[in-house]
Amino acid sequence: MVDITDKYRKLVGKNKFNIFEGSREEMEKLGKKWMKDDEFHEVISFPIDEIYGDVVVWEGVTDKKFLVEHGVRHLLGEHHD
Ligand SMILES: [Zn+2]
Repeated sequence: MVDITDKYRKLVGKNKFNIFEGSREEMEKLGKKWMKDDEFHEVISFPIDEIYGDVVVWEGVTDKKFLVEHGVRHLLGEHHD
């Protein structure tokens, strides 16, 4: 995975979030391991606490900024179905 946090510094703000870009294979592995389903996830968030957390976004996605924003909101505690 590639660390792309610097690209999204503005979205991350003062939080210590890390943003990574993963290949299709890496996203599939993470999905299986952590999401416990066979769906393909273009973005997966790993909240640690209010300050720390990781967002992994698929490298092949078209609107990466949108998904990174979405992942960051999850780290900040937003939930939806
Ligand atoms: Zn979501």
